[in-house]
Amino acid sequence: MIDGTIAELAQALHARRISSEELTSEALARIERAQSRFNAFITIDRDGALAAARAADAALRKGDGGPLTGIPLAHKDVLMTAGLNTTCGSRMLADFVAPYDAFVVEQLRKAGTVLVGKTNMDEFAMGSSSETSWFGPVRNPWDPAYVPGGSSGGSAVAVAARLVPAATGTDTGGSIRQPAALTGICGLKPTYGACSRYGLVAFASSLDHPGPFGRTAEDCALLLRAMAGHDPRDSTSIDRPPEDYAQLLREPRAAKVLEGLRIGLPKEFHGEGVDAEVAAAVEAAIAELQKLGATLKTISLPAVKYSVPVYYVIAPAEASSNLSRFDGVRYGHRANDFKDLLDMYKKTRAEGFGAEVKRRILTGTYVLSHGYYDAYYLKAQQVRRLIADDFRRAYGECDVIVGPTAPSAAFKIGAKTDDPVQMYLNDIFTIAADLTGAPAISIPCGVTRDGLPIGLQIQGNHFDEARILDVAHRYQQATDWHQRVPPIEHASKSS
Ligand code: GLN
Repeated sequence: MIDGTIAELAQALHARRISSEELTSEALARIERAQSRFNAFITIDRDGALAAARAADAALRKGDGGPLTGIPLAHKDVLMTAGLNTTCGSRMLADFVAPYDAFVVEQLRKAGTVLVGKTNMDEFAMGSSSETSWFGPVRNPWDPAYVPGGSSGGSAVAVAARLVPAATGTDTGGSIRQPAALTGICGLKPTYGACSRYGLVAFASSLDHPGPFGRTAEDCALLLRAMAGHDPRDSTSIDRPPEDYAQLLREPRAAKVLEGLRIGLPKEFHGEGVDAEVAAAVEAAIAELQKLGATLKTISLPAVKYSVPVYYVIAPAEASSNLSRFDGVRYGHRANDFKDLLDMYKKTRAEGFGAEVKRRILTGTYVLSHGYYDAYYLKAQQVRRLIADDFRRAYGECDVIVGPTAPSAAFKIGAKTDDPVQMYLNDIFTIAADLTGAPAISIPCGVTRDGLPIGLQIQGNHFDEARILDVAHRYQQATDWHQRVPPIEHASKSS
């Protein structure tokens, strides 16, 4: 049963064909069994989940539930969850218990979801493969020798391996969309400010976006409706009237979204550097969208080629500042033996952070330092504006922009760990939307000869979540890539 989408499970829950307690027990059993194979979770909250499931069942019995009531769900371990460990995949916070809920966690609790646990991730969300976690690498259910992408790899695997129907992630440079692509599920990065960052442990504050993972665009729509909303505790949270994205999908207008839709194909996203199998799958998906009524237009985003270097100045700069709070005094780990205060800081940070986090702190400190600030940080901010201007111009000519989510399908564990630049290039197609703050979704559109999933990215202008969800939904009504299941026993066995 748990293999169903949220929309299907909600029907079964409301019709009382199944209880949330049964569903949650099934999720917990699968999570516990799969843990040694995929390492998708850092914390499993069996007791809390069962108690929340019983409360959801009581609400459903009274006829009180909404579309998410009783749905088991996992949160990326960078989101604070009151009373539960929140580790960010780091030794620094290995024993840290969150004192409050993040905004999106609170919203999803209010919507009646059942928190089953916290998912594994790259340390402090820095990575594209979920290999930098202090708790060990996450494995891809399509082939455990491969990475699931990152940094939200644990959440993506939890959904792809049918352990839970839905999960949350965060996207700073691609960390929702790229793992969604590499594990064959859907992942949405909303407009910056649509989902409050309150209680999201900061990596790069001007780039961090919480968002949902689901198996279908419709499920992402249901989750986003609950996660979005104004929150005065985040000064960049946007105050807009709520939109019922899932309801919008059902309107007659949505069925016609592709009729005359202008799809922009940036030549920068469809040329060199894309694996041939990925390019072919993306081309086939575009042909399908065209068959459904869309028109195609080649566009150009000349500054987008600077996205990766711009990101790797701005993100580390913000990270070096945000991570200065981990000093052995206020949060988390503290070294055991030290001579004096300075020695305590040094040893604590040397022991608490892994190599990738240290690399970012060093880079960030360098680009912000006196004499380099203008040459690097300021310059990067200026180029960030040029990239945003390119997109603004492009949306005069087209309604959505379509291309591959990642340049290749999943790669083997260990294949890129010694070459940070190769690792960074994984996000070449996803980073621009973080720099501009506009929404983008990744949905499955094919598999490689080796049986690894391929993702299609649909980007929209600011606040165009409803439109990109409509496009993704129409594509999923016409194709079945999102129904492919990885070769794991439980997923094929149950109904
Ligand atoms: N892979 C990118 C990085 O390492 C993006 C990570 C993210 O989106 N959190 O910074």
